[in-house]
Amino acid sequence: MKVILLGPPGAGKGTQAARIADELGVTRAASGDLFRENIRNETELGLQVKSYLEDGVLVPDELTIRLMMSWISAPEQADGFVLDGFPRTLPQAQALDGELAAGGGLDRVLYVNVANDELVRRLAGRFICQSCQTPYHASASPPKEAGKCDACGGALYQRNDDKPDVVKRRLDVYFAETEPLVDHYRAAGVLREVDGEGAVGDVGNLLARALRS
Ligand code: AMP
Repeated sequence: MKVILLGPPGAGKGTQAARIADELGVTRAASGDLFRENIRNETELGLQVKSYLEDGVLVPDELTIRLMMSWISAPEQADGFVLDGFPRTLPQAQALDGELAAGGGLDRVLYVNVANDELVRRLAGRFICQSCQTPYHASASPPKEAGKCDACGGALYQRNDDKPDVVKRRLDVYFAETEPLVDHYRAAGVLREVDGEGAVGDVGNLLARALRS
């Protein structure tokens, strides 16, 4: 199955993408994680994209499409995948449609909807594992031991772009550039919308049902 998670920053896409990929037994990628990994490793791509991530604006389509098409076309993804954070613009969605056309296209686009003030609250309290990228929230889903990842023991940190001034820009960019994809995928008949405001398990159940519907 080929599945996309669509929704604003802070909607819980990363958490839910991991659960869905486990349930389906397929691989998963988050474009933001791939960019951050390149920045950490100081690759050529990392140096090219660093300032975009710091400013909370989108990396140019050309770079993003090249990175994600090379991930999607790898043999590990042949049985399907879950994508989180890509596509984020209409040209990215069109590139993905073209790449997948021969294999029948996307099976589902799960649109996780969360109100704006809740997104700001979630992002302000979010901490990420430096090693495995598992997200935590200071009050809603704290780690068992402060500052340490439950899954791998890695150190937790707050992303620079989760600080309030950059969060506002990321949300503006989302509504201008990415939300129009909801109509694109609705027209294709693959979109399912889910209320993302509940507890992680409840949203997970709604998504599991939306996958089967
Ligand atoms: P995320 O971890 O999904 O919130 O992404 C963090 C940052 O990575 C974004 O603010 C963008 O700068 C960049 N990014 C991630 N995915 C994309 C994408 N599909 N297109 C352009 N930029 C992206």
